[in-house]
Amino acid sequence: MTRPRTLAARGPVYGALRSAGAPMTAYQILDAVRDQGITAPPTVYRALNRLVDEGLAHRVESLNAYVACIHSRHGDSAAIFSICENCGTVAELESADAVAGLREAATGRGFRVERMTAEVRGLCGVCVEDPKALAASEARNGHDGHDHDH
Ligand SMILES: [Zn+2]
Ligand SMILES: [Zn+2]
Repeated sequence: MTRPRTLAARGPVYGALRSAGAPMTAYQILDAVRDQGITAPPTVYRALNRLVDEGLAHRVESLNAYVACIHSRHGDSAAIFSICENCGTVAELESADAVAGLREAATGRGFRVERMTAEVRGLCGVCVEDPKALAASEARNGHDGHDHDH
């Protein structure tokens, strides 16, 4: 098999994820690929599982959604996401050190790692400039942060 690694060759599900540029639930993906002849949820789930296995997509557990990997391929199935509590923007972060640290912490206890997804929640760079979003964020955290500012 020497198919070129184009978007089309990766299949419509990957194409839909890539063009969305944001997390999609399986049903949003199903809607997006329906006009390409894919109408069965199991077909979408199979394609998603394969993409996740290949490191081309990640599952954002807390959102129950999938997102195309920003890297061409990790070589491992570890991903770190920042999730904005205000606008919902999800970004994949790049931190080989963090991934190595997590892996070490787990394997040090004899744990065999199969995949890792870490989620960092807070405000994105745009929302942190928005006083209303900032106030809501502080309310969510019960102003705890200030107690450590002695
Ligand atoms: Zn990735
Ligand atoms: Zn935001």
